[in-house]
Amino acid sequence: MTLKYNEILIRFGELSTKRKNKMLFVRKLAKNIKNIVGLHCEVQFDRIFLKYSEKNIEGLKKIFGISSFSPVIKVETNEKNIKESIKNLIKEIKTDNFRVTVKRHWKEFPKTSMEYAKELGGFILRNTDWKVDIKNGLKIEVEIRKEYTYIFAKRYKGLGGYPTGINGKVLHLISGGIDSPIAALDMMKRGIHVDFLNFITPPMTDFKTVEKIDKIINKLIEYQGSAKLFRSNYTDLMNYEGLTNFQSYKIILMRRSFYRIASKLAIKYNYLGISNGENIGQVASQTLESMLVIQSQSELPIYRPILTADKQETINRSIKFGLYEISIQKANETCEMFAPDNPIIKPKLKVAKKLEDELELFPKLEKENLENKIEIIEYDIF
Ligand code: ATP
Ligand code: MG
Repeated sequence: MTLKYNEILIRFGELSTKRKNKMLFVRKLAKNIKNIVGLHCEVQFDRIFLKYSEKNIEGLKKIFGISSFSPVIKVETNEKNIKESIKNLIKEIKTDNFRVTVKRHWKEFPKTSMEYAKELGGFILRNTDWKVDIKNGLKIEVEIRKEYTYIFAKRYKGLGGYPTGINGKVLHLISGGIDSPIAALDMMKRGIHVDFLNFITPPMTDFKTVEKIDKIINKLIEYQGSAKLFRSNYTDLMNYEGLTNFQSYKIILMRRSFYRIASKLAIKYNYLGISNGENIGQVASQTLESMLVIQSQSELPIYRPILTADKQETINRSIKFGLYEISIQKANETCEMFAPDNPIIKPKLKVAKKLEDELELFPKLEKENLENKIEIIEYDIF
């Protein structure tokens, strides 16, 4: 008989620290598993069980809130079944040494965990040429519950964090770069549902720009199940900002305007904050001075999950999450194309305000943008 895993046992370490809200968290996690893997799972107080398949194993690697999981052989609890399953399991495993751990959730099981671990260790010794190594041996684990017992030898590491959506939602400013998609994943990891806002400036940005964002969001929803994209056609405003007397302030004016629009949109749709992929010092608009001058335009807090990350670290994560290949594809970006030759590095709030007063059509154009130039696109993995 070949080895037949029938279930996957899912653990959620970080959640157990929040005892009071635990059931809420577990239910949310189960719901996210349903949304991402596409199957219902069984919720118990300290574990979730999902039907075994290789596809489901891959799916679980993308769900925040899971600390680890194991494919398991599930059998009705009795000693004969347990031994038989262990016999099947060890046939499939290549190792020189092992150890056995028994967890007895059902205290009426006739043997103590220690006794039974020893007994099963002896049983494995008789059926293999392996040696016992209490410290480093391959761990064969047996979890005994009243009705069923779970036997397994492998633990996959989960992504950790909290189930996405349990801690509210934000509107994330997404661009086609490397940083903002990674920042979005960081928000998701802390249990926050992320929807997206992207500014495009056709015809300077073209279908490639739109397609790139589309690919990025399609990748990101593998970790969240679904998301909304607000796509703002920003061309009129960008052209208007180009009229400013201080060309070096163009990007600052543009970003202040981005945040006025983002903030109004976010409030309208009940988001609790705005997030972005800013990284300190990376470009002129990401100095402390610039961020100060820009952020005052948002009525909501601005979260910057990768503010202090090293670029290489972000690139490594981008590769790991399958985003890098998309992010490095060539496409025109609103910000890049609009950047002046000598952008101001230490802008002054007073100057920005004065320039905005000179260009008095901002409120009108922004209202127009919010009312008529934002398209909403719904993404769903199924
Ligand atoms: P990224 O790699 O995320 O593009 P970056 O290092 O290229 O970041 P900038 O282009 O200056 O830096 O953008 C800083 C942040 O501003 C981005 O992380 C993103 O959150 C936001 N942003 C930039 N361009 C746009 C855009 N066209 N639409 C929406 N948000 C944008
Ligand atoms: Mg960018």
